[in-house]
Amino acid sequence: SLTQRLTRTLDSIRGQGRLTEDQINTAARELRMALLEADVALPVIKSFIDKLKARALGAEITQSLTPGQAFLRVVQHELTEALGGTSEPLNLRAQPPVVILMAGLQGSGKTTTTAKLARRLKEDDKKSVVVVSCDVYRPAAIEQLRIVATGVGVDVFPSAVGQDPIQIAKDALAYARKQFADVLIVDTAGRTTVDQEMMAEIAALHAAVQPTETLFVVDSMTGQDAANTAKAFADVLPLTGVVLTKVDGDSRGGAALSVRTVTGRPIKFLGVGEKTDKLEVFHPDRIANRIIGQGDVLTLIEETTKKVDAEQAQKLAKKLTSKKGFDLADFREQMQQMQSMGSLESILEKLPGGAQMQAQLKNVNAEKEIRRTVAIINSMTPQERKFPDLIKASRKRRIATGSGVEVQEVNKMLRQFETSRDLMKKMAGGGMAKMLRRLGGKL
Ligand code: GDP
Ligand code: MG
Repeated sequence: SLTQRLTRTLDSIRGQGRLTEDQINTAARELRMALLEADVALPVIKSFIDKLKARALGAEITQSLTPGQAFLRVVQHELTEALGGTSEPLNLRAQPPVVILMAGLQGSGKTTTTAKLARRLKEDDKKSVVVVSCDVYRPAAIEQLRIVATGVGVDVFPSAVGQDPIQIAKDALAYARKQFADVLIVDTAGRTTVDQEMMAEIAALHAAVQPTETLFVVDSMTGQDAANTAKAFADVLPLTGVVLTKVDGDSRGGAALSVRTVTGRPIKFLGVGEKTDKLEVFHPDRIANRIIGQGDVLTLIEETTKKVDAEQAQKLAKKLTSKKGFDLADFREQMQQMQSMGSLESILEKLPGGAQMQAQLKNVNAEKEIRRTVAIINSMTPQERKFPDLIKASRKRRIATGSGVEVQEVNKMLRQFETSRDLMKKMAGGGMAKMLRRLGGKL
């Protein structure tokens, strides 16, 4: 991944202060490769990197960040901005019926997305929706929309092969008006490649129904071609947004950057599957991470570097990985750190291997329980913390009284400690420990 590459290339250069031009050029070469692999269009890569270089120059390398990580942070930030910064909702602020026009190549996912949007508008926004197919070249396409739209329970305005698509759209609009529908979604025909006739037709459709939203639907797997297609559509249509489909496949999301850069229009939704519930609101930061290929690890680093005392983390990491083992004092320290890092669950979620750990530690994820655990351990002698086996019945009673809990609570806590200790042994050298070591050390 890009993270590994940058770590290799940049982190041999131990630097403090600010990123230098040399470091940035080296890192930019790696980034270029990563963007190419993610299928971002070449001209888009070039303009993105030029802008990025300017931003990265002088970026601070703090105590806790290596040059590689400092650079990655800039990349993550700039990429998110280039993808639009924040998510942008569908615009429904117009006299109903609000018209949504779907545009894009054949097979891009227009018909599927029409049904997905209809479902979302109906179920989440409580809108009444009419859909219509203007794909008069393929009987199967009209039938396909009828089936999926009926499946989600929205009104389908009928159309047939051989009719004039412009007239169909006008009639559908009149019908939607008469029904007092909130939204009309117009599904259109597409060719396998951009051609003049199709472009003229979609432009005429646009003029006829005056849509509030003109959505360009594009298959994220088309890679380099996505940019050219987007340009062709943006040239003839005032696009208001983009739907990127098939993001559930092997797509690394590069098309998002290409299409956003070329059209300048917000990506509003992602199609993440064939079923009608597989439509997600687009979040620029998530796709940025996907393009960089590092999941949420960067976010985790940011969150934890803010909150965790690096030295303490390093100490803990050493303990976790040392042969000597993990005692109750370490367990307490770990609990306290979890507390200061925020909700245990949200942290674990992001760690490599975290899901497994999350499942195993399910019982200790409540803040209250963490506080109780800490209180119980506080009531022990240092000797007891070091050698938990010493804690027999009478000691348990004393500890319970001292921390104001029942003896069963002490037992439960000791069992949790044991589970955790076993887990730590398993994790040593892997996910958590490595993470903490990196956080604690010269990151
Ligand atoms: P249209 O020609 O633009 O109307 O495209 P369709 O809606 O007919 O979709 C073409 C194919 O892509 C169909 O087989 C869909 O099931 C599939 N498809 C559409 N969107 C998605 C998606 O988000 N994920 C996946 N995996 N398949 C999709
Ligand atoms: Mg279709």
